[in-house]
Formats: sequence, structure tokens, C-alpha cells
Amino acid sequence: MGKPTGFLEFTRELPKKRPVEERLHDYDEFVHLYEEERLNNQAARCMDCGIPFCHNGCPVGNLIPDFNDAIYRKSWKEAYEILSATNNFPEFTGRICPAPCESSCVLGINQPAVTIEEIEKHVIEIAFQKGYVQPFKGIVRTGKKVAVVGSGPAGLAAAAQLNYAGHTVTVYERDDSPGGLLRYGIPDFKLEKWVVERRLKIMEEEGVTFKCNAEVGVNISMNDLLRNNHAIVLAGGSTIPRDLKIPGRDLNGVAFAMDFLKQQNKRVSNKPAINELIATEKNVVVIGGGDTGSDCVGTSNRHGANSVTQFELMPMPPASRTPFMPWPTYPMVLKTTSSHEEGAARQWAVSTKEFIGDENGNLKALKIVDLEWKLTPDGRPAQFVEIAGSEREIPCELALLAMGFLHPQHAGLISELGVELDERGNVKANEKMYQTNIQKVFSAGDMRRGQSLVVWAIAEGRECAAKVDEFLAGS
Ligand SMILES: Cc1cc2nc3c(=O)[nH]c(=O)nc-3n(C[C@H](O)[C@H](O)[C@H](O)COP(=O)(O)OP(=O)(O)OC[C@H]3O[C@@H](n4cnc5c(N)ncnc54)[C@H](O)[C@@H]3O)c2cc1C
Ligand code: SF4
Repeated sequence: MGKPTGFLEFTRELPKKRPVEERLHDYDEFVHLYEEERLNNQAARCMDCGIPFCHNGCPVGNLIPDFNDAIYRKSWKEAYEILSATNNFPEFTGRICPAPCESSCVLGINQPAVTIEEIEKHVIEIAFQKGYVQPFKGIVRTGKKVAVVGSGPAGLAAAAQLNYAGHTVTVYERDDSPGGLLRYGIPDFKLEKWVVERRLKIMEEEGVTFKCNAEVGVNISMNDLLRNNHAIVLAGGSTIPRDLKIPGRDLNGVAFAMDFLKQQNKRVSNKPAINELIATEKNVVVIGGGDTGSDCVGTSNRHGANSVTQFELMPMPPASRTPFMPWPTYPMVLKTTSSHEEGAARQWAVSTKEFIGDENGNLKALKIVDLEWKLTPDGRPAQFVEIAGSEREIPCELALLAMGFLHPQHAGLISELGVELDERGNVKANEKMYQTNIQKVFSAGDMRRGQSLVVWAIAEGRECAAKVDEFLAGS
């Protein structure tokens, strides 16, 4: 424990952000790093609990009190070694994780939690600055070959771990560059793409091969992969978005959030985007109140939209924990993201009934209605009815559908392989073994568990790699 009285002396402080008026003019990250003294004070708040509940909250099992202590002592290399023992990519989670560890931090019982996520980001960025993060060159090869399908955080974590175990790993990615949603999906202002490139370069230097524009089941045959590899990891993500099939769905100006976000990632990387969706001078409505929706809000504001509104079907969540979501569970409370801080009208308990177009087939308005929700005794929304007389039209020239993802794409890879699916349409693979019903084929990440988080994808990639290694090595 760095400083026994740290939690009494210092309160939670987050690093400064660039002002909204400034950051809306670019797509760069806007959260500064702490000065050294502040970083130390924040690490000093950790109580090194006898039972560190933060461990339980963290899907990769980061050794949080240990790296907090090392940071407090300015033992930077030690902090990096502790963190990299459990997480291959802390530079991603340190930027974009919703930090379930902080929700379960013991300090959170009666004080603001330790700033674990920010400290994690500092550990890895200091390690890069000081040159501690170097490709590992001493890998002893086993002669076994593994194909990883998909280069999101799950595929990357599996590839990195299997490569360290000595297997020869090739990652197949259907997009033009690796990274999955880290590359195409998550906006640059949350995660600049040089951060992804920096890690990919290290993995390549360590011996991982990336093949892009390679869609398994389309231009790469699954049978060839099965023939030429000792094991296969399916990590293709959960890519089929939930649609809103109401009148007017086919109008110009009604689009899936992912198409809009991916185009902007491409523009920032100076890559051509086709069928461009632009929010400039439009009234934008984002349908769906989650993180993808919030990313659309931030991107629309950067485009210079006339107005940005975000709708959520569910009622507004409470501002803080209720007796039904006690510490240390992850609380379903109101989340205000940095994109919301930049400006958006947020409306809850609203349903969209129709997209209304003009004579040229372009979206011009939405027909919406307010909902009244009945709650269960523990405060969860159960049923809704439309509020009579609340139906109205609002101007809208761009509606972005951000209502989550159903399951992985079934056409192509999954249908060619004939792999068994679970009741939600995800690839069925036992949570402990990650093994599908097909010999030597494993699965991890959103493709297996359904739409989730980067940290879960990393955790699954690592655990799946351990099972593949056991399968290949026989123990
Ligand atoms: C807009 C958006 C914002 C998000 N923001 C956050 C956030 O802030 N924090 C957070 O923790 N989580 C966030 N998430 C969720 C997170 O990104 C995902 O849970 C995570 O990326 C899943 O990782 P994965 O590796 O399983 O799949 P993905 O990242 O989806 O990667 C799968 C990859 O497989 C490729 N692929 C699919 N099929 C094939 C095939 N047949 N052949 C070759 N390649 C194939 C795809 O092209 C893709 O690149 C966000 C999600 C979205 C959509
Ligand atoms: S629960 Fe919070 S205070 Fe306790 S060890 Fe973990 S980070 Fe430190």
C-alpha cells in the first residue's frame, strides 16, 4: 500500500480535458495525462484492500492494488510488468473501458472510487515513453499453426497469447486494416488509431501475420483453413445490427450507426468512404441510448449538425445506486458521456413510429410518441403503453439506428462451416473450453458471448488461447 492515509488526504480527480469548443473542431483525443504529482496522489488513494473487490469487477483480473502501489512508488517498470501480466492491451482499456473495476472499488462505498482506468492508461503510456514495451523476440516455435478469424480485441488477444506460446499465428481480417471495432466503429476522438497501429506493429515484429481484405467464407475458404491449420479461433464479432422496420425505413437519411461511424473513421484515416453519410447542417436523431448512440452524437456534433437528439425507448435511469443495485454490483445508473457533454437533447421513454419523407425520397421528419412504463417492484422497466395524445412529428434529415447488435453474420463463414449456434444466434462454444462443436475450432469475443465490451473481448481471447494451447500441447 503506497500511502496509508492517501484516501483520507486526496479526493478523486480526473485529468483535464480539452474544452468542448476546441475539441469539436477535430477528431483527436481530448483527455490530457495527469502531471506526475497528481498521478501519485490518485494512486495513493488505493487502500490495498484485504479483499480487493476491484479484482472481481475486472474481467481480465488486473492486479489493481499492486500496480497502484508501484505507481505511487514511481516504480514505473514494475507497474508495467504487473499490468501486462493480465492485459495485452491496457492502452485500449485505459482509454475506453467503462471500468467495472471502479464500480466495485471498496472506496466507492462511501467515497468516489479510485481512478483505476486513468491510472491503467498512465502505466502503459509511461511504459511506452520509457521504452519498456518492446517486441518479445525469444519465442520458441512449436511447429503448430493457428488461424484467427477476425482482428478485433478478442482475435488480437488470442493471437498475441498463442504466438507467445510458440504457435505460428495468422490473423484473417475482411476489412482493409486490422483492429475490428477498435479501428472501424469506435471514434478517433475516443481512441486515436495510431494507438492501435503501435500495438499491431509490435505483434507483427513478434511474428504474428495479418492478412487483410480476407473474408473467410467468401474469398478465403474455411475448408482451406481447416486443412492448413492445427486450430482455428473464430473471433468475427457481433456484426448484425438491430433494425427498426417501420414505415419509411427505406428513405435516404435512415442509416445504421455503424455505417456512419465507420465512414468517419475512414475519413480521418484518409481512406475513401462510399455512400457518404454526413450530419452537417442536419437535424440528427440517434435512435438508441447506448454507447454506439453516444459515439454518433459526438461524431454528428463534429460534423456540424444543426441539432442532435438521442432517443431511448427505456425510461431515464436513476442518477445513483438504488437499494436494488447495491455496491459492488455494476449499477445501471444514468451515464453522461463526454459526447453528451458536448451537446445533445436526450429523451427517454420515446418510441419512433414512422420515418416521413419528402417527394424525392429523402427523410424530413420522424413521427414519435411518448411511453409510460410500468416498473417491477425492484424498479426495473417491465411493460409500456403509448401515452394518448403525445404523438407528434419532429424535423429530422438524418436518423441513425443504434439499437444494438443481434448476433454475428451467419452468411459466409458460419454457414460454410455449419458450426452450432446458441439460442441467440451466437457461435455456441462452452464458456470454460471455448470449443465449438467442430473439432479444432474455437470461438471468443462478441461472436461467442454476443455484443459486449473490449475488456471482455480481451479476457475471452486470452482464455480461449489458453484452451487452444492446451488442445495443441496436450496439457
Ligand atoms: C460504435 C461502438 C462503440 C463501442 N464503444 C465501446 C467502448 O467505448 N468501450 C468498450 O469496452 N466497448 C465498446 N464497444 C464494444 C466493443 O467494441 C466490442 O465488444 C469489441 O470490439 C468486440 O471485440 P471482438 O474482437 O469480439 O469483435 P470485433 O471488434 O467486432 O472484431 C471482429 C472482426 O472480425 C472481422 N470479421 C468478421 N467476420 C469475418 C470473416 N468471415 N473473415 C474475416 N474477418 C471477419 C470483422 O471485420 C471485425 O474486424 C463499442 C462497440 C461499437 C459498435
Ligand atoms: S477495491 Fe479500490 S481501494 Fe481496494 S484495492 Fe481495489 S482499487 Fe484499491
